[in-house]
Amino acid sequence: MSRNEVFLSKDLSHLLSKEAKRRTSSPIKTTMAYFQDPSIVFLGAGMPSPDLFPLISLTLDVPSPPFSDGIGGYGKSIVGCITKDATKLSFSKDVPLSRALQYGNSRGQQELISFLKEHTLRFHSIPYQDWDIITTAGSTQGWDASLRIFCDSGDTILLESYTYSSSLEAAEAQGLECIPVDMDDRGIIPEKLEKLLDNWENRYPGKRMPKVLYTIPTGQNPTGCTLTDDRKPMIYDIVQRYNMIIIEDDPYYFLQMDDYKLTDADSTLSNTTEFLKNNKDLFIKSLSKSFLNWDVDGRVIRLESVSKTFAPGCRFGWMVGSKRLLDNYWNLHEVSIQSTCGFAQAIINGLLHRWGQDGYIDWLIGLRHEYTLKRKCCLDNLHKFIPKEIASFSDPVAGMFFMITINCGKHPEFTRKFNCDPLLLEKYLYDKFIENGILIARCSWFKVGNSSGDGTISFRGTYACTDPERMTNGIRKMGETLKNEFMIQDMI
Ligand code: PMP
Repeated sequence: MSRNEVFLSKDLSHLLSKEAKRRTSSPIKTTMAYFQDPSIVFLGAGMPSPDLFPLISLTLDVPSPPFSDGIGGYGKSIVGCITKDATKLSFSKDVPLSRALQYGNSRGQQELISFLKEHTLRFHSIPYQDWDIITTAGSTQGWDASLRIFCDSGDTILLESYTYSSSLEAAEAQGLECIPVDMDDRGIIPEKLEKLLDNWENRYPGKRMPKVLYTIPTGQNPTGCTLTDDRKPMIYDIVQRYNMIIIEDDPYYFLQMDDYKLTDADSTLSNTTEFLKNNKDLFIKSLSKSFLNWDVDGRVIRLESVSKTFAPGCRFGWMVGSKRLLDNYWNLHEVSIQSTCGFAQAIINGLLHRWGQDGYIDWLIGLRHEYTLKRKCCLDNLHKFIPKEIASFSDPVAGMFFMITINCGKHPEFTRKFNCDPLLLEKYLYDKFIENGILIARCSWFKVGNSSGDGTISFRGTYACTDPERMTNGIRKMGETLKNEFMIQDMI
């Protein structure tokens, strides 16, 4: 490609669902372009007057970068005011509430989109030029919209063999058949994906080839594993050969950490955090890469969310992908969610612009630090209390989940009491854990397809929301429950 050549995404409109192909842009929404034009007497759309919005201003009180006292406390803060009246704004990058709370802007407020685009360019390098961003009400909504845009009832889709249960349930409820792709502790295994697609006719006779691969590449839910970068171009090539779309659901991207070391002291972890804040490019380089980096065709839709970086109740996220594909989301949003919540957009925009790109990265580095401490407490305790004779656990480098896998055959009554049925043992242990004061999720809830399995059962735990004392206590109780049930004597 010569330096001035414009490199555009491919036309993939043939991959759209029947519903998406039928949908056109809403004609009444085209009138919005004239709403801000003072030379037009606007009688065109049913918009209430902002004068009657029952708000004068919102006060924003947010922690101030570089968050020297950590991100969890109440250190120095920035206080700002977002007014309804555009002429009274004291910070030029705020979105006035008269606009934020009005109809329109299904793609998202311009100020926010431009911040997010700049942020995207700091972290990812997208090979084609006509990429864009559209806001969502979080990744759950983004995934639901993706299913409607690319799939028809009766279609098949591919997902990691364990996946986020809500994503699975959303797809099944839309009449899709979910086919698992084998994975290991480094994510999807490219050779297995290739074999699955190469042998499709034999394995799934009469079924349409899948158009969508859904993946949670970083800190996967529920396994906690992270897809390694060396596998991504291989997976992309296969997906490209079979003319599919990748939906990359990556809410844990910024919860990436160094490898766990039993011996790391808290002070070592704090020094690393300070170092990264002063060397942001090294922080960016340390992160795994998005599929966007290999996406020469514009066949990757990346789902981003503030649920794990700010707060899930914001119900705010965004998608990155080719403008051609995102236009279909725009059309769908106009007749479904209309737009992302105006309060969420005004507040998140106000916060991000006050922090600036570097301040936001400071926050993300602070988050990395907090999760590193939480993971350390969790893994230290798993090493200490979980009996290795019968169970193993994942060693997550990202996200908030760990998975404990138990060898069913080691249970003394697996044959007699549980009839060699792993699901019965899983249910039994789940209830036993609750009886003993611990809740941990059953991995059968996250399993794609109904393969018979390998004689193990798994449970998903999270270290996100429990303080160290309770975590230690909970994991100790879990270890004791397993030892009792599997009749393991402690060595003295
Ligand atoms: N995708 C995955 C993989 C998740 O684990 C979660 C949250 N548990 C979500 C999406 C939900 O994200 P959001 O709150 O943005 O809808």
